[in-house]
Amino acid sequence: MKRNKKMVLLAHCLLNINAKVYGIATEPAGCMKIISGLLENGYGIIQLPCVEQSCFGIKRWGQVKEQINFPGFRAKSHELLKPIVGQVLDFHQNGYEISAVIGLDGSPSCGINYTCTGNWGGEIGDGYDIQSKIDSLDKLSEYGVMMEVLKEMLDEIGIVTKYLSVDECDPEATSQELIIKLSE
Ligand code: SF4
Repeated sequence: MKRNKKMVLLAHCLLNINAKVYGIATEPAGCMKIISGLLENGYGIIQLPCVEQSCFGIKRWGQVKEQINFPGFRAKSHELLKPIVGQVLDFHQNGYEISAVIGLDGSPSCGINYTCTGNWGGEIGDGYDIQSKIDSLDKLSEYGVMMEVLKEMLDEIGIVTKYLSVDECDPEATSQELIIKLSE
């Protein structure tokens, strides 16, 4: 039996870039270097849901953490994550290793090292001070909302794992870095 019983939980759009907010894709389909790096080094992949698409659809605007950090979004995250966390628990109870959760920095849902913040929302036309809204955009050193919910759920069932992130703009380097961090 060749399986090595290791796997990661991966942000949805690293495998399916089509789920991203329109205009920010860095590859045509998915992050090949990162995906192939994981598989070549013996990590199975469980794809996490894209909660933003589930809540707001594929034509959504980009948002900041404050806009999606409300009870309904957290509840939807919990609902979509529940079957995955159940699957993870089954693996865990049978001796498999959840080596890491891998998110995407900057995302209001899937950020790990940082997410995005700002006084963002409301109308965007003339007379709504769009420039001050744009100027308020910034990084925030917190998890994105879905990652917060996922961590709470994994903590509840006693699963301790690494929370890592990738830089899609430099897939070669980030893939190598990821494999090193996974093996530490
Ligand atoms: S919510 Fe997460 S999975 Fe969906 S597009 Fe944003 S970073 Fe990717």
